[in-house]
Amino acid sequence: MKTDFKLLIDGKLVDGVSTFDVVNPATEESFAQCPRASEAMLDEAVAAAKAAQPAWAALSADERQAYLNKLADAMEAHHEEFGRLLTAEQGKPLDQAMYEIGGSIYTIRAIAAMRLPDQTMRDAGGNTIIEHRTPLGVCAAITPWNFPVILLVGKMAPCLITGNTMVAKPAPTTPLTTLLLAELAADILPAGVFNVVCDQNELGPKLTGHPDIAKVSFTGSTATGKKVMASAAEGVKRVTLELGGNDAAIVLDDVPAKVAAEKVYNGAMANAGQICVAIKRAYVPTAMYDEFCAEIAKLTKAAVVDDGSKQGATVGPVQNKMQYDKVLAMIADAKANGTLIAEAAKPDKAGYFIAPTVIGGLSDDAPLVAEEQFGPVLPVLTYDDIEDVIQRANDSPFGLGGTVWGMDQLRAMDVARRINSGTVWVNQHLAIDPNIPFRGSKQSGLGSEHGTAGLMEYTQAHIINAVSLEAEPA
Ligand code: NAD
Repeated sequence: MKTDFKLLIDGKLVDGVSTFDVVNPATEESFAQCPRASEAMLDEAVAAAKAAQPAWAALSADERQAYLNKLADAMEAHHEEFGRLLTAEQGKPLDQAMYEIGGSIYTIRAIAAMRLPDQTMRDAGGNTIIEHRTPLGVCAAITPWNFPVILLVGKMAPCLITGNTMVAKPAPTTPLTTLLLAELAADILPAGVFNVVCDQNELGPKLTGHPDIAKVSFTGSTATGKKVMASAAEGVKRVTLELGGNDAAIVLDDVPAKVAAEKVYNGAMANAGQICVAIKRAYVPTAMYDEFCAEIAKLTKAAVVDDGSKQGATVGPVQNKMQYDKVLAMIADAKANGTLIAEAAKPDKAGYFIAPTVIGGLSDDAPLVAEEQFGPVLPVLTYDDIEDVIQRANDSPFGLGGTVWGMDQLRAMDVARRINSGTVWVNQHLAIDPNIPFRGSKQSGLGSEHGTAGLMEYTQAHIINAVSLEAEPA
């Protein structure tokens, strides 16, 4: 596996001012060095993106699409290399890593094919009103460590296809797949169009506050998102924030407990629970509780927790030590105040392994219920009245996703309509599609990614409002 990486600034692959360790969370050992950029290098990256932007914007959208498709083709040619590197730095099982890379390639191609044609808003009585859209300039992408590749390309593709240029900054614990993408981009994209700088959490404010950054697209925690929003205020910068969530799964009383348990288990434990829209609390009818718990216990105990590069592993380690400690503390608190429904086995070796755990009997204000756990642990709660469960699901500062499970699809859709979240899936989960807008409500986010709405976020709308002088008296 490749272990030497460079930053991408102005089309050149360059060393940083120093390097830092990248740790494999399945071994707790450093397996590669990441180059660290200085503030001066960040300035160079922004200046290069600014210089490259007019020529990039002057290309036709079809020409920019051709560049992006070449990048997608190059990723496809390196699919397995990306997958293995992603497992090594992030921890997820290899099949899930390969799926993230496949989804990333698909996302680039799908977004590169989108267009924002002029809208004619009026064309009558000699008055023509057109709304057209132009790029913003240089955009910053700041990404977290749970899906480092697909979250990045979901920012890069709409940014570039609309004629902007970009400076990207990955999370310090998962920078390498971003640098592998940078290496491919260096051979494909014109110099300065896409730049990557890496840090150990110190360059974020400098990037978001930089006077030549027109827009910040941020995915990460709500706490950091608030800082990003504050630092963008000075320059009245555009921001897109995709932040934390505490998604409820509401199981209706007509679903077989076995079916519900399987769906909820998968929705809670995929990527070791480190998904912004993971199922983070499950509500089941009191009458179904015992059977549901028996079924979800079987699935939990069958989990194979191990190094993601080992065949057969279904749950990898948690990505970093800080998250590992946070999730373990939440599990300890929940075990002390609730009832353990089931816990998987975990390997007795180094690595940030947390056994998938399901806990019942907690109050609505218990930390595991009220806060975002972002790890492989799920609280199961009961309800008797549909109005009550809707109110409890909505009683959160978050509003990212959510699921409703019901045999009567229309009834389930009626419940879904009343959940105050950006997306509510009915009888499915994680159906994220580059063609469909994705956004958070309340403190889960601001603005959209994906779809035409997401593309618009990288543009400025201009109204051209014209009348004919021929109607004027001579
Ligand atoms: P984080 O907020 O700690 O870090 C995210 C990124 O912000 C990193 O690149 C980090 O270096 C950078 N950063 C840190 N301080 C900064 C500052 N002051 N200014 C600018 N950037 C700064 O988040 P995380 O722990 O890496 O990710 C987990 C969180 O991300 C969870 O809350 C999860 O729900 C959320 N998330 C949301 C979505 C979504 O689409 N809504 C998707 C994935 C993850």
